[in-house]
Amino acid sequence: MKEMDVFCKIVNGDIPCYKVYEDDYVLAFLDISQVTKGHTLVIPKKHYDNFLAVPKELMHRVMDVAQRIGQVQIKFLNAKGVNILTNCYEAAGQTVNHFHVHVIPRYEGKEGFEIEMKANAGDLNLPALAEQLRID
Ligand code: AMP
Repeated sequence: MKEMDVFCKIVNGDIPCYKVYEDDYVLAFLDISQVTKGHTLVIPKKHYDNFLAVPKELMHRVMDVAQRIGQVQIKFLNAKGVNILTNCYEAAGQTVNHFHVHVIPRYEGKEGFEIEMKANAGDLNLPALAEQLRID
């Protein structure tokens, strides 16, 4: 049998968390590694591996809670910005195999958290690439 991931264990109450929000479908709690003060994770209670695998209605519930937590971080933690991000698969940095959204408040000054996106893919045929990716 597949071993239960750490977030399923939190949902089951087998390990503790600092809860920020809970309803029948969604749980939000503080990330154990506070990248910045208030860094929160939002998860569906039901297990799905990642964002790409979760049914739309549940994804909307999770994102709704993520949005509300971001608003609260701005209002009550005096954050100046918020990063909302979710990693899908190990190659993208996913370490816990249970869909989760990071809600990371951003402050001024040194924070220990940087997102740097640099153009790095070289010369690309953008018309062909867009064709390849186009969805209906
Ligand atoms: P990711 O790398 O996107 O899969 O993020 C997983 C996150 O889960 C990391 O930021 C960890 O700090 C966090 N994490 C792992 N175990 C726990 C736990 N028991 N309680 C709260 N957060 C956790």
